[in-house]
Amino acid sequence: MDVVERFVRYAKVSSKSRNEKEFSLLIKDDLEKLGFEIFIDNAGEKVGGNTGNVFGRLKGNSDKKPLLFCAHMDTVEPCDGINPIIEDGIIKSDGTTILSADCKSGIATIIEAIKEVIDSNEERGDIEVLFTICEEVGLLGAKFFDFNKVKAREAFTVDTGGDAGIITIKGPYHHIIEAEFIGKASHAGNAPEKGISAIQMAARAIDNMNLLKIDEETTANIGTIEGGSATNVVAESCKIKLEARSLSEDKLKKQVDSMLKAINEAANYFSGDVKINEYLEYPGFSLKEDSPIKEMFAKACENLSIDYFEKNSRGGADTHFFPESIEATTISCGMSNVHSTEEFISVKNLIDTKNLIAELIRLA
Ligand SMILES: [Zn+2]
Repeated sequence: MDVVERFVRYAKVSSKSRNEKEFSLLIKDDLEKLGFEIFIDNAGEKVGGNTGNVFGRLKGNSDKKPLLFCAHMDTVEPCDGINPIIEDGIIKSDGTTILSADCKSGIATIIEAIKEVIDSNEERGDIEVLFTICEEVGLLGAKFFDFNKVKAREAFTVDTGGDAGIITIKGPYHHIIEAEFIGKASHAGNAPEKGISAIQMAARAIDNMNLLKIDEETTANIGTIEGGSATNVVAESCKIKLEARSLSEDKLKKQVDSMLKAINEAANYFSGDVKINEYLEYPGFSLKEDSPIKEMFAKACENLSIDYFEKNSRGGADTHFFPESIEATTISCGMSNVHSTEEFISVKNLIDTKNLIAELIRLA
């Protein structure tokens, strides 16, 4: 089997978030055949899924450093009956489903790279893998994984778009705010003056917010709004759901504080009420200037004549939940147009990513 065959085999097994069991058993079996000791945790029980995170360790045959590779098992929908088509060096779906290169390309390249290093009898340190559940629904698998099990102090998550050779230097902090404005219902024709409009409160709050691109590192958005029941009723309730992201923890705090201030001020202005639920969806991360994994990745690219690029991420990945004691980042695997039926990946990117991972194992 080569990396393309492995990818196609994995892509065909449906594994939407909270339903990763069938796929998890397939890769557990593949990893055990390579000599891995596998542990499946109970994160699935905590998030209402049918299986947990797959964590595996393969003992090394030298004193090289242990390394961990991570990718997620779950996918977005539509993902039933994925039928990958290979044409002119590009792998895509038949147009009725996603391809699931996000993130089966990560898993296939990791496992194939490890197999290659084992088969060639090269020196290697311990290799650990973490294949998570429920990444697409809030990084839940990584959030509930017990990282005390991990021996490696250096980790690569293989889960971002762009050609092989991209390393993420910073990932954002991501904060969610859910607010429900509570006014007072009244007949809009007979006694509107007795009512308090929750929709007006939401409108004032939103109008007083700084939104969308705040600066080079910070963004904010109103995701959803719902409220009211009929034109003849002064709306009693209006709910809004918002997010803010920033590569800087300080800037995120400032943005979130200003959004909360606008929400509270609007409720006060109309003498209404507001219930707020806000939380950090996931923390940010950033690699140090002299990060050893950055140097290692740059060296691997150089050895393989693959162009090396650094980028800041705007989205989340399992990397965000790695503890500070593990130096971790996200690297690309070549997936494109993810989360759509137009998703595709090139054969070249699958091979380059696999080769890079094998080279990282050699460089450890
Ligand atoms: Zn992904």
